[in-house]
Amino acid sequence: QSDSGVLAGDPRMLIDGELQLTGSGAMFDVIHPASEQVAGQVTDGTVDDMARAVGAARRAFDTTEWSRDVEFRYHCLTQLHAALERNKEQLRRITVTEVGCPVSLTGAHIESPIEEVAHWAELGRKFEYLEDTGLHDAIGGQTRRLIHWDAVGVVGAITPWNVPFYLNIAETTPALMAGNTVVLKPAQLTPWAGSELGRIVAEETDIPAGVLNVVTSNANEVGAALSADPRVDMITFTGSTATGRAILAAGAATVKRTLLELGGKSAHVVLDDADLTAALPMAATLACVMSGQSCVLPSRILLPRSRYEEGLAILQATMEGFPVGDPWDPSKLQGPQISAGQRDKVLGLIASGIDSGARLVTGGGVPPEFPTGYYVQPTLLADVDPDSQVAQEEIFGPVLCVIPYDTEDEAIAIANNSIYGLSGQVSSADEDRALKVALRLRTGSANINGGQHFGLTSPFGGSKQSGLGRRNGVHGFQEYLELKTLGLPAN
Ligand code: ADP
Repeated sequence: QSDSGVLAGDPRMLIDGELQLTGSGAMFDVIHPASEQVAGQVTDGTVDDMARAVGAARRAFDTTEWSRDVEFRYHCLTQLHAALERNKEQLRRITVTEVGCPVSLTGAHIESPIEEVAHWAELGRKFEYLEDTGLHDAIGGQTRRLIHWDAVGVVGAITPWNVPFYLNIAETTPALMAGNTVVLKPAQLTPWAGSELGRIVAEETDIPAGVLNVVTSNANEVGAALSADPRVDMITFTGSTATGRAILAAGAATVKRTLLELGGKSAHVVLDDADLTAALPMAATLACVMSGQSCVLPSRILLPRSRYEEGLAILQATMEGFPVGDPWDPSKLQGPQISAGQRDKVLGLIASGIDSGARLVTGGGVPPEFPTGYYVQPTLLADVDPDSQVAQEEIFGPVLCVIPYDTEDEAIAIANNSIYGLSGQVSSADEDRALKVALRLRTGSANINGGQHFGLTSPFGGSKQSGLGRRNGVHGFQEYLELKTLGLPAN
């Protein structure tokens, strides 16, 4: 494999406008998952560094005009958009280096989030922060009421490693444009997507000191300290449901607003009239791109028993021909898992599925041609018990669990048999029928016959234990704002 594109990111945090290393000089390694080699280091921020960052964000919110000056925010985010565009190739190489995602997929990792910055700048500038609702009956006569959308305050943003640059942007820029100040805590495995954002903000924009802080750290306690700090008004988080619960509990003491985008276990309900050759190659592809390391990708396929073997054969053919390999090779769509720990977790879940009676159709192990790098073969498990661990837990690997069903009601019940409710898919020759099934899925979104629910202008998030609140669209922007109602005399 080639390490030719490996690039180190900035080792420094951004606290109160200063790019800095932690006082002790402690650093931690960033590993390139395709080679298992150390690509470089980043500063290992402490709980004290986090406290300073929160203090800076608090001061910037309480003592500057940031939250009241929408034109200045627009200026800063427009500058940030241009700066990210200038640094695009560097950000792309850093992402492939630390995530190990194929360079062919970096449009979604890099280009889309850069565009997202411009989107929030425009949306936030046009947003009506003040609404006059007119006259209302009130005690002793009439009153006039105004509604104002205030910034929430200091927002703590905690991000995971699977699409780190995108999620850093998705969690910080709408919060900033809405007038909040932000402390970002990037994931341990992918600190550079955050530290580079900090460097670009500090060196190439007018975003004032304290408005955006980035604290890299190898310790979960530093994220925990952010989510428990009483000076923080809101936490926005993407990651596992277990960590989401801890963040919710930590915020309870000071009643923090919480926006959580957590795990998923999407089911693809294939109805008996579906065009399998249209639906299933894409389903298998989506299970393997990003090595399955995305919460929205389908991980359970529900096939009607009448077309079960036909469907399995199509899935198997796609998975066996799937382009797995060096993420720097533009012809590959699946690279390694991010770490040895993740690879071992995926292999363990595959083994548990087989133990619980699932049939291994293809894959199931480490590809023999890639002994180095944390690779896992595209894996197809059939006859999966819907209650088994592999059908219930989020795998975050290139693994599809196929479950047979007899009736449409049974398919919907299996799809909904999950603590998660992030996304779903339905395929049918009859769009109305598919729509009716999609409406019965207890999920925050669903795709029908290859349609795409995900987009900057549409709300995205989970029901059940997949999350709280929504990202994207006007709804997603409003999550970072607090309503204030003003009563005035009627005349
Ligand atoms: P994973 O288990 O896949 O690594 P997590 O959901 O644990 O994902 O991690 C996502 C982010 O949450 C990371 O930035 C991590 O540092 C942070 N984190 C982990 N534990 C906690 C916690 N108890 N409180 C706040 N943040 C945490």
